[in-house]
Amino acid sequence: MCVNSALPGGLRSGNVLKVTTQEGWATIAHEFGHGFGNLEDEYSAASKGAYTGSEPARVNVTINTKRSSLKWRQFVNPSTPVPTGQGKGAGWTVGTKPAGWDDAADAGLFEGGATFETAVYRPVINCRMKSNSPDFCPVCYTHLKEGYHSAADHDFRRAVPGRFTSARVSASYDDGTTWTQVPVINRGSKAVAVVDNTRATTFVTLKVELTDANGKSVTQTLTHFYGVR
Ligand SMILES: [Zn+2]
Ligand SMILES: [Zn+2]
Repeated sequence: MCVNSALPGGLRSGNVLKVTTQEGWATIAHEFGHGFGNLEDEYSAASKGAYTGSEPARVNVTINTKRSSLKWRQFVNPSTPVPTGQGKGAGWTVGTKPAGWDDAADAGLFEGGATFETAVYRPVINCRMKSNSPDFCPVCYTHLKEGYHSAADHDFRRAVPGRFTSARVSASYDDGTTWTQVPVINRGSKAVAVVDNTRATTFVTLKVELTDANGKSVTQTLTHFYGVR
C-alpha cells in the first residue's frame, strides 16, 4: 500500500506493507524483509532505552551474548570477539576493527536492535533491516533464502542436457480445469505460441512442454501468466 503523504516512513501491519510516496525501493525492500522474512528491525530509536523482554523469536535479534549458543554463531568468525560492540546502538567497540571488515556482510554481536538502544543485540553493524539501503546481512539473507527456496518451483538438480526439439503449449482460460492446445511455430532453438486471447475473460494460464533430442521432456505450468480484460 502506498500512502499519499509528504512524510517519510514505512511499516508492516499483518500482511500489508505500507510506505509513503516519499520512499524509494530501499524502504520497500526493508518492509519486504518484515513481510516476507518476518525479520525484526535492527535499528535503535533514540531514547527507546533498554529492551526488557525475553529472547525474541525473530532470527536477527537476540539477548543471548554467549558465542556457543548464539543463534547466528555459524556466521561469526572465530577471531571476531563476542560481544563485538557494546553501548547504545553500538558499532565495533572491542579494540581495533579488522582491516577489510564489512559492516553489512561480517557478523558479530552488536548491541542495539528491535528499536531498543541496549540489552538486545543484532548480527551486523549495518543491515537493510537497520538503515534500508545496505544489502540484507547474512543472517537475514539466509533466512529469506531458506524460507522461499522450496517455493521457487525450480530443481536444478534434475537438469536434462540435450538439444531442444519441440514445444507443446496449452492454454487454460479457467485456471486449469480445461486445456486447449495452441499452435506453436518452431523457429530453430525458439518457438512462438499463438494464444487466442478472445476466449479469456480474466486470466490466461499456460502449460509448456519442452522435449529434447534424447526424448526427455519438462513441463511447466504458468498459472495466471497474464491477465486479459
Ligand atoms: Zn522496519
Ligand atoms: Zn539483518
